[in-house]
Amino acid sequence: MSHFSYQDGVLHAESTSLPAIADQFGTPTYVYSKAALLANFASYADACAGRDALICYAMKANSNLAILDLLAREGAGFDIVSGGELLRVLAAGGDPRKVIFSGVGKTVDEIRLALSHDILCFNVESIPELHRINQVAGEMGKTAPVSLRVNPNVDAKTHPYIATGLKANKFGVAFDDALDTYRAAASLPHLQVVGIDCHIGSQLLDDAPLLEALDKVIELIDTLAAEGLTIHHLDMGGGIGINYGEAGEAEPVPVGDYLRRVFARIDAWRAEKYDGKPIKVAFEPGRSIVGDTGLLLTRVEFLKPGTEKNFCIVDAAMNDLMRPALYQAWMAVQPVVPHAGETVTYDVVGPVCESGDWLARERALAVNAGDLLAVMQAGAYGLTMSSNYNTRGRAAEVMVDGDKVHLIRKRENPADLFALESVIK
Ligand SMILES: *Cc1c(COP(=O)(O)O)cnc(C)c1O
Repeated sequence: MSHFSYQDGVLHAESTSLPAIADQFGTPTYVYSKAALLANFASYADACAGRDALICYAMKANSNLAILDLLAREGAGFDIVSGGELLRVLAAGGDPRKVIFSGVGKTVDEIRLALSHDILCFNVESIPELHRINQVAGEMGKTAPVSLRVNPNVDAKTHPYIATGLKANKFGVAFDDALDTYRAAASLPHLQVVGIDCHIGSQLLDDAPLLEALDKVIELIDTLAAEGLTIHHLDMGGGIGINYGEAGEAEPVPVGDYLRRVFARIDAWRAEKYDGKPIKVAFEPGRSIVGDTGLLLTRVEFLKPGTEKNFCIVDAAMNDLMRPALYQAWMAVQPVVPHAGETVTYDVVGPVCESGDWLARERALAVNAGDLLAVMQAGAYGLTMSSNYNTRGRAAEVMVDGDKVHLIRKRENPADLFALESVIK
């Protein structure tokens, strides 16, 4: 069920009308549905019920404290990619012992911060990183729990900017080097090898590449076991895609179906090789938790007809929502109050001084200046990727809960944007 629907000809988030939100909070504003968020998390949690499994929300998709808090209360852990994200988890009341730290370039300070909060594990992506973590842990008198992020060299068949599991990508330890890298990790005194991780890409609609990666990971765990190296948890990464509503787009695999296939494969393997002894399983979903829970509400400033193209100029821009400019991503644009009138094909663009500043291209819309539009499925990689380009304050964020609206991030005040700057005296 969609939590965004037309009621009496007006687009609503749950039972709150979007024009009411625009009146109260202005535009552009990100609008999220709490019910949608909890339903998406439940699709993972329900499939994991009764198992030793951990759902570590990949918070780079949307790291607002309100979202982290709601998910933490549902039992979520977090997949972080910076020390800043760990501070967000702590500020939201999340449990650092359910935090997995991913990323290719962890700094000494970030490693120290993570160790001081006893996170669940570091997903390590190279041998120099193993040495750095070992060194910092030694200085702190600690043992660092580590997993290796292995690169299974499977093609996720997604946009090249969000494919991460091929040899040509910067991520992970090459599959052929994994055994040696595990041996290196096991030999370092301040590390404890606890797991294995892979994350092959994002916006995967089919789970076949994920299951192929799982088979390779299983093979590696068996090889390690034969050397006496026990892996305690297997982390499948994230990557399940969502429906953006483009014509001809394939349907994403339902989360429950994917998890059931993962567990079926794992259970059969454990029964065959390990007398049925279970292994802890982790997932790092981002987009599939938040992507369809939010939209970007924007207002039409001007219509600008042209001989080659017609432009619908709105008050949201590439700095607010970067996916179209960055990945040529297609995002649905819906009128908040559809009305009769001439339908014209527009490029929906923002006010930023770049030709790449567009939100949608070639869309048939019946719109007037002053109308509200909603850019749908904007809950993931929206606000978190936004910038202050053109000294534009970031959009406000609100969370709808039925007929209640909570402001969860104030609109940025342009004066704050240069408050850290100074002229040379
Ligand atoms: C981005 C990322 C994720 C989440 O990916 P989604 O496609 O949003 O589910 C998970 N794990 C790692 C390591 C990531 O970098």
